[in-house]
Amino acid sequence: MATAKCPVCGADISVEEEDIVLFKRMRCPKCDARLEIINDFPLRLGRFDRE
Ligand SMILES: [Zn+2]
Repeated sequence: MATAKCPVCGADISVEEEDIVLFKRMRCPKCDARLEIINDFPLRLGRFDRE
């Protein structure tokens, strides 16, 4: 399990190791922002705003 901050609201988001895949998309559980994994180690999340 790794933790990264939501770039939109700053909430800590925990991600299971098996879900840490570069460019995998997810949503922030707090603000519902669309995010993607932009770095796997250390884990970093970026805002996903491409359609
Ligand atoms: Zn958020």
